[in-house]
Amino acid sequence: MMPTRQGSIRLFRLFGINLFLHWSWFLVGVIEIQDRRHAYGGLLWNVLEYLALFVLVTLHEFGHALACRQVGGQANQIVLWPLGGVAYVAPPQRAGAMLWSIAAGPLVNVVLAPPLWMLYFHGTAAGWAQSMPDFFPFLQTVCYINTGLLAFNLLPVYPLDGGQILRSLLWFVFGRARSLLIATCLGFVGVLGLIALAIWIRSLWFGLVTAFLLVNCWRGWMQARALDRLDRAPRREGYTCPVCQVAPRRGLLWLCGKCRQSFDTFETHALCPYCQARFTETPCFECGNLRPFSEWSVPDSIPPRI
Ligand SMILES: [Zn+2]
Ligand SMILES: [Zn+2]
Ligand SMILES: [Zn+2]
Repeated sequence: MMPTRQGSIRLFRLFGINLFLHWSWFLVGVIEIQDRRHAYGGLLWNVLEYLALFVLVTLHEFGHALACRQVGGQANQIVLWPLGGVAYVAPPQRAGAMLWSIAAGPLVNVVLAPPLWMLYFHGTAAGWAQSMPDFFPFLQTVCYINTGLLAFNLLPVYPLDGGQILRSLLWFVFGRARSLLIATCLGFVGVLGLIALAIWIRSLWFGLVTAFLLVNCWRGWMQARALDRLDRAPRREGYTCPVCQVAPRRGLLWLCGKCRQSFDTFETHALCPYCQARFTETPCFECGNLRPFSEWSVPDSIPPRI
């Protein structure tokens, strides 16, 4: 249950990042604009309000993507759909890199908050409510949306940004698997609270958001368990990653992209034992890099330098 590029249109490409918009944004846009049509004198302002939400979410997601790039991770697409934006970021498997990639999103809203509120308070004093009866409520709504996005995203409920920031901080102490186990367990408690809130306020919309969070919290928990198994597996001697110099784990940890069977690629020298597919590149689960099998060195066989 993640938005994909299917059903999405590509709006633009900026800094090498493709921005996709899911078709349901238009549907929700029509409902939203209909719903709030009495807030302004003309429909144009409702459209502008919805565009402002779009801009704020896009800036937030670009914050994630650019920060992820900065620490050497991969981020090349953002999909905006009504339950939130999703930046497809793959930061390097380090606590600090993960922390920065996640924190940069809400940081964009933190940076935007003071100028927006200052403009709003200036407008209040200058009597914009009377002189600009459409612009002033619009400005007020933009301030609320920005602050609301920030507050909601910072809830320490995995997979919200706050929950992922908590996970990154726990990573420094407990390692990547246990930090994710703890964060997702706390996440379940938080998501259940949000579901109760959705029922209490009888919001179908908020209910859908919480269902989305629940599914992704579950995915995080499954990922944590897989990481835990990985971290417990013994290491194979004789090979080290060409990038991080760490020895790979033993076990059926590599998945064949062709026949979807798991196998130990270092046992078979990058050959799938089921379908005989050969892999030109072998992924490292420590640093996330892909390198040709031949580059994974066998330390003992390196001839001594003279
Ligand atoms: Zn975010
Ligand atoms: Zn295979
Ligand atoms: Zn590595």
